[in-house]
Amino acid sequence: MKYEPVIGLEVHAQLKTNSKIFCGCSTEFGKDPNVNTCPVCLGLPGVLPVLNRKVVEYTIMMGLATHCRIAQESIFARKNYFYPDLPKGYQISQYEEPLCADGWVEIRSNGSSKRIGITRIHMEEDAGKLVHEGAFDASKASFVDLNRACVPLIEIVSEPDLRSAKDASEYMQTLRDILVYLDICDGNMEEGSLRCDANVSVMPRGSDTFGTRAEIKNMNSFRFLQQAIEYEIDRQIDILESGGEVVQETRLFDSDKGVTSSMRGKEEAHDYRYFPEPDLVPLRIDQEWVEELSVKLPELRDARIDRYVTDMGLPEYDAEVLTSDRPVADFFEAVVNKGTKPKSASNWVMGEFIRIVKEKGMDSARITPEQLARIISLVEEATISGSAAKKVFEDVFATGKDPDGVVKEKGLAQVSDEDAIRAEVKKILKNHPDEVAQFRGGREKVLGFFVGQVMKATKGKANPKVVNKILRELLAE
Ligand code: ADP
Ligand code: MG
Ligand code: ZN
Repeated sequence: MKYEPVIGLEVHAQLKTNSKIFCGCSTEFGKDPNVNTCPVCLGLPGVLPVLNRKVVEYTIMMGLATHCRIAQESIFARKNYFYPDLPKGYQISQYEEPLCADGWVEIRSNGSSKRIGITRIHMEEDAGKLVHEGAFDASKASFVDLNRACVPLIEIVSEPDLRSAKDASEYMQTLRDILVYLDICDGNMEEGSLRCDANVSVMPRGSDTFGTRAEIKNMNSFRFLQQAIEYEIDRQIDILESGGEVVQETRLFDSDKGVTSSMRGKEEAHDYRYFPEPDLVPLRIDQEWVEELSVKLPELRDARIDRYVTDMGLPEYDAEVLTSDRPVADFFEAVVNKGTKPKSASNWVMGEFIRIVKEKGMDSARITPEQLARIISLVEEATISGSAAKKVFEDVFATGKDPDGVVKEKGLAQVSDEDAIRAEVKKILKNHPDEVAQFRGGREKVLGFFVGQVMKATKGKANPKVVNKILRELLAE
């Protein structure tokens, strides 16, 4: 390829606080329109914003996890623009002095790892939402829902260090993992808790001057992000190849058509007339608080993957699957802490557990880690077969009942009593003299037939190991 893409992302993440950033209203999603509002977030005259301490705490945590410098003093600014979902006519954000700056994260890129610089992380309030459905004439009227107005966001701006659409999606995934493991954002892209703008340019390979960039607005899935960037790279290369010039502009991605199109050019770019927010004093951060938070920072996904591989001896694949969702990883660790071998716990969690969680959701899990550990040891002690264990698991998952009780109630215990099995085997051999002769004549395959017969006679409860052993014993006579 003659050209090299250059990409920088601006990612918005909604913080998981109970109340909004400058007032006490709830941040709960899915409420009736305008239920979560008060004079502050409605932008009524004469009110004053009060900063939510939790928002600052969460932003510092993200800054620490991404190796940023935490500013001792940062300031809020007014970003002025007019839009019906913005009742004050400005958004309170941070501009010249953000809370966090100059950090980095590591991403996997083409089989090796690569550092992506974080320019800044700042706090801001979200805007409300326009609702077009249900208006008496959608072409003439819309509704305004201000439940989302004043909900806390952080904006994470990267350096232009990404070099492919794949890199960009890896980077976004890495940020999502960090946010979710810190438990400061739910990472839900469909609900808009995590969204991003991508800045894309191309330059001749080996050049040290970046090309002119276009900014693609508001993508809310990894797939769209990757598609939009790939399309944009090709579009810009085509322009350069045909002797044209890329213009700086803001573009929108149409996910149905898979193309980006111009939304506004540089001439129409917003002039936000930023100035310091006079209603909020500069924010001073106590160094002791930062140290306290850095000590309490939870273990992140990459560190867990390392630990599962190094300390528990799991294959890297297992470690990746288990950690892709933090509650699943926590459950897996709790099972291991109950004394289950890591690989056995991993097989069960990656198999049955994740399968049912995908179907029914983590919230519906009634099973405790202790109960899964018990089910695994019931199999290992040969009290129940592997297939019976799946039935027990499904029941305990949904009901939280005691596994031993379920085994008894459903009559799933295996028969390992050798005398009982021997009596059954004798009967079957006697009734099938032809097959016995075939086996003794060298047709090993007939053994499977006999095992099947014993299982049928014992309603699947005979321990297959014992059955095989006794069959071989009696057929050898
Ligand atoms: P703005 O506020 O206008 O969006 P910023 O300077 O904050 O501009 O840059 C936004 C993003 O654009 C950053 O993530 C940065 O890495 C990226 N960026 C800057 N220049 C380029 C470029 N030439 N090509 C691609 N991305 C770029
Ligand atoms: Mg921008
Ligand atoms: Zn409010």
